[in-house]
Amino acid sequence: MPLHLGMLVLVEVGHLLFKRAYAKINLTLDVLGRRDDGYHEVDMVMQSIDLSDLVWLDKRPAGEVTIESTSAAIPVDERNLAVQAARCFFEHTGIAAGVHIQLEKHIPIAAGLAGGSSDAAAVLRGLNELFGTGMSLEELSQVGARIGSDVPFCMYGGTAIARGRGEKLTRIPYVLPMFAVLVHPRLFVSTAEVYQGLRPDDFTDSPASAAMVSCLAEANGQGIAPLVRNALQRVTFDMYPELRALAEKVEAVTHHPVHMSGSGPTLFCLAVTSGQAQRMYNALRGIMKDVYICRFVGAEEVVGQTAAE
Ligand code: ATP
Repeated sequence: MPLHLGMLVLVEVGHLLFKRAYAKINLTLDVLGRRDDGYHEVDMVMQSIDLSDLVWLDKRPAGEVTIESTSAAIPVDERNLAVQAARCFFEHTGIAAGVHIQLEKHIPIAAGLAGGSSDAAAVLRGLNELFGTGMSLEELSQVGARIGSDVPFCMYGGTAIARGRGEKLTRIPYVLPMFAVLVHPRLFVSTAEVYQGLRPDDFTDSPASAAMVSCLAEANGQGIAPLVRNALQRVTFDMYPELRALAEKVEAVTHHPVHMSGSGPTLFCLAVTSGQAQRMYNALRGIMKDVYICRFVGAEEVVGQTAAE
């Protein structure tokens, strides 16, 4: 690759622009109920982690939006959320130009880690810089919300409470120096099917986000794990009993509680020190392949110095 991957957020070479698209995990995911429009009303605490896709943007003539990806598992056409983001950008701004997108995928696909939404958000932030449009993150979020409910969170990243369909954000202005050790079982989980599997007793009127945010505000890393919960976990575990069995195995190996991100199937354990995370990682790597050691990432790192606030 011609670019300096060590630089975290942005490198510009001629017309080529580079962005990192960060994954997220859910520290909480409560479902309040089903809405008349068919969506579910959620209340979640989302946290960016430093597992990231790499996105390069290169100017092209008007109307030309193309993409190539290192992963053969995602579509490289109009179905790709990064392509949809570029189309939305040109439509919204009226700029007569196009873009070629190169995606180096590292975030597991359909894993509950918002990889596609994060790519879309990175493309919108990147195009805003590439074409000097000076849109605020708020405006970019509104454009991104048309692509998917997780895109507004991914636009800012860091830590936030997400409500509504996930697009209504309350940003939490601090990030704990914590770690998550992820296990990605190679299962394909459909988010839509998981939501369809919710029962009335999975819904709650008292989401855990307020307690979680208090814990984060007190910098109480140890207090976080007991508060982590995910209403979708029961559904996904019932749909995939092998995932429940894997979670039990991970818990037995790490001696730490195991949680699921989004609609799954990614599982994670939290660690308050890098040493603790490394020990969990070593233990898990002994028995399985797709294990990732990640640190929590704040919004500053996601949006970088150059984006308009
Ligand atoms: P969500 O929880 O929002 O459904 P996820 O993290 O579970 O997201 P993604 O990795 O975003 O899952 O993929 C969900 C679907 O989106 C997959 O079926 C995939 O083919 C499609 N997709 C479209 N564009 C992308 C992209 N750039 N990266 C990953 N998946 C993409």
